[in-house]
Amino acid sequence: MKIVKTISAAALAALCLSGCSNSSEDTLKMITEATFPPYEFLRGQEIVGIDVEICRAVAKKLGKNFSAETVDFDSVIPAVISGKADLAAAGITITEDRKKNVDFSDPYVKTGIVVVYKKADGFAGVDWMKGKKIGVQGGTTSETYVLEKLGQEPERSRSPSEAVAALKAGRVDFVIADIDPAKNCIKGESDLAISDFITSEEYAVAIRKGRPELLKAINETIAEAKADGRLAKWIADYTAESDSLKDD
Ligand code: GLN
Repeated sequence: MKIVKTISAAALAALCLSGCSNSSEDTLKMITEATFPPYEFLRGQEIVGIDVEICRAVAKKLGKNFSAETVDFDSVIPAVISGKADLAAAGITITEDRKKNVDFSDPYVKTGIVVVYKKADGFAGVDWMKGKKIGVQGGTTSETYVLEKLGQEPERSRSPSEAVAALKAGRVDFVIADIDPAKNCIKGESDLAISDFITSEEYAVAIRKGRPELLKAINETIAEAKADGRLAKWIADYTAESDSLKDD
């Protein structure tokens, strides 16, 4: 009897698995990388942030359930290409290179990358950067900047805060990161500072190529959230929340 029960539990699980592929059509899946406050970060076990709100609003517009999953940044875009997820939103900068593989929505934020440095060392521009040990989050536009603009290999970390920890520990000379997570990282660190923007970038949601209806729903959601003040409120609220988490 016990064995029968076990088998039927397994059979049920198998049914559920195949059932899940049907029910997943009712769910809009976001893929992200939740170490990037205020766009995405963990509140306990829950993934929250500006990008999560944008994607949840897209799901609502489409009348679908919503789920969010976090992976390393360099696995975010591959997840929409393979169909594992529908929406990639992770403070993703629109780049010509990425456009070859995915479609981007309209941008929702204008931003850029900055240098996080020790005040004692100062920061003296591009020539000063060359030849130093530079920390970046792997797979990001900061990595591309070091490879292409400075012509050298960076020291890769899995998150902006891990890169800044390497700076504090003296394993790198400075860090390059997007401004908002950089600001979050240096909060309460009186010996660290950030430079002005060294690039100009825009964030957008990325999806698999050839999904025009989904792209339209995302663009409408972004336009509505900009127009009715929701986007500005998400930015203010999640910046305040992620800053306060940093104080803990
Ligand atoms: N905006 C940067 C990029 O797209 C970094 C994004 C991130 O680390 N989440 O490469």
